[in-house]
Order: sequence, then structure tokens, then C-alpha cells
Amino acid sequence: MKIDVLYVVVPCYNEEEVLMETTKRLKDKLGQLIKDKKISKNSKVMYVNDGSRDDTWNIIKKISKKELLFTGISLSRNRGHQNALLAGLMTAKNYADFVISMDADLQDDINAIDEMIDKYYDGCDIVYGVRSSRKTDTKFKRGTAESYYKIMNKMGVELVYNSADYRLTSKRVLENLNNYKEINLFLRGIFPTIGYKSDSVFYERSERFAGESKYPLKKMLNLAWDGITSFSTFPIRFVLFFGLFVSFITILLLILFLILLLCGINISYILFMFVSLWLLGGIIITSIGIVGEYVGKTYIEVKHRPRYIISENLNEKGDLK
Ligand code: UDP
Ligand code: MG
Repeated sequence: MKIDVLYVVVPCYNEEEVLMETTKRLKDKLGQLIKDKKISKNSKVMYVNDGSRDDTWNIIKKISKKELLFTGISLSRNRGHQNALLAGLMTAKNYADFVISMDADLQDDINAIDEMIDKYYDGCDIVYGVRSSRKTDTKFKRGTAESYYKIMNKMGVELVYNSADYRLTSKRVLENLNNYKEINLFLRGIFPTIGYKSDSVFYERSERFAGESKYPLKKMLNLAWDGITSFSTFPIRFVLFFGLFVSFITILLLILFLILLLCGINISYILFMFVSLWLLGGIIITSIGIVGEYVGKTYIEVKHRPRYIISENLNEKGDLK
């Protein structure tokens, strides 16, 4: 069996406190995997310095000088986790047969890597790392995160429940990811749309090894909003339906008033005024919703996402000889 090259991509933003420990643990893990002939000896850990302001990049440079197993790239400035991750994945795909992405803070259990690799050799192109529980998260984070996954699913966005950016991807998945040219990145939403055989590996997420979360509430909300607006035009449709609903109710009321008038019952003009104001409001909201539908369509078009991905082509049988 061919032994494939693995790259582990680790985005790092001000992670000087954890890098040495992360390096030690990943060195042991990859060393063992190479010894067990599960991955090629050309495999590496690639740190992505996301414009850190502390000593992170110097540490990465030192490590990669000392250890053959480690390498790194540095972004010109802080571009955020998703962009740093994308930069890492796109660079790693040039050298690796498959890539695992994980955070620098050791929250993701690196022992899940073995199972991920087994599933890769079993033919999976994507293996999601899924948290079996959120015990180590604060109540607030757990509550908001879990409802977020539920809302996203309701809006028709395919997300793997409780999986973040700890995942294995094959080279061909990354080559397809390269065709997604959008600027607002929500990677965990894109991978399920790529397709191919996928599976999940469950792990306990632990506390951050050291340092503070680089995802304050503001960044988290931004990511959540990006996720919704990059994958769903549901909010626009909601406006349209709300407008139609208001118009419908007010038309019913107007008809009711007319019937009452015809029956000789007097209705105050103020009430009439109110209802017609609401009707106008409903029509305006509906119109905004209709315009929104077109804006939404345009938004989907300009992203130029691939419309389909062919996984196998029997026409190429001759080439395989
Ligand atoms: N990160 C990054 N750029 C940023 C913010 C975070 O590369 O602007 C990295 C960070 O170094 C870590 C990963 O993204 O490896 C996840 O961040 P963190 O652990 O702080 O998030 P949390 O686990 O608290 O959600
Ligand atoms: Mg973390």
C-alpha cells in the first residue's frame, strides 16, 4: 500500500504560550505514525502565523530550523482564523496527499488523528472531528453554539453538528475548495457542499492549554453571521413572507370592514386609515423582499461556486492501465 504524505495545518495567532507544548505533542504523534508506516516520512506540521504580535513567528522559525518535521508560513498581517486556515490548506495541498487542520491550543484531542487516518485509508475524503460533549465550554458558549447549529440547519445550511475546524481532508477535496472564490469564508459550511465520502470521529474537547481565547464574542458573532449570510438567503425570504403576511391580513380586515359597512354598521375613519397604512406597509415590505430575492440571486451568482464536482469518470479507464 502506498503510504501517503500528511500535513497538519495549525493556524496560530499570538500563541507563544502554547507552541512549545503543541510542538512536543505533535512531534510524538507524527513520529509514532511514521514509525507505524501510517504516514510518509515526508509528512509535516505546518504552522500558519496569522500576523501575530507576540513571539509566535520567531518560535515557529526556530522550531522549523531544528526539526525536520515542522515548517511554517506567515501572513503579512492578521486576517482572521478562517483566512489563515485557508492559506495553510492551499499551501499544504501542494505538498501533501491529505491534510488535517487543528487549533494551536490543544483543545482538539490529537489522539483522534489515528482514527481519522484509518478512515482516510478506508476511502473517506473528509473526516470531521466532532465534539462528543461541550463540557469544557462555558454555559453561554454551549447554549449559543448548539442553538446556532440548529438554526443553521433549519435555514437549510448543511453543517456537521458540533464540528468546528478539526478535520481531515484529501488533496482532491482541497483542489475543489480552491474553486470556491468567495471572500467571506465559512469553511465548515463549505466542506459538506463539496461532497465525496465523509465520516466523523468523536473526541472530548479539553480546555485551552494556555493563553486566552482568540475568539472574543465579537469575532464569534461575526463568524456566525458570515455563516448565515454566506449560505442562506432565508433572511431575505423571511422579509418577503412577512410583507405578504401583513398585506394578506390587512386585505382581510378591509374586506371585513366593507362587509360591515354594507350591513349598515358604522366603522370609524381612523380605523380605516390605520388599516390602509398597514396595507401600504405590507406592500412596501413585500417589494423590498422581491428586490431582496434578486439581490440574493445575484449574491449567489457572483460567488461562482462550482455547480458540480465529478468524483469518478469511467471515460478515463484507458489512462489507468
Ligand atoms: N486564530 C487565528 N487568527 C485569529 C484568531 C485565532 O489564526 O485571528 C487561531 C488561534 O491561534 C487558534 C485557532 O485560531 O489556533 C482557534 O482560536 P481559539 O482557540 O482562540 O478559539 P476558541 O477555541 O476559543 O473558539
Ligand atoms: Mg481554542
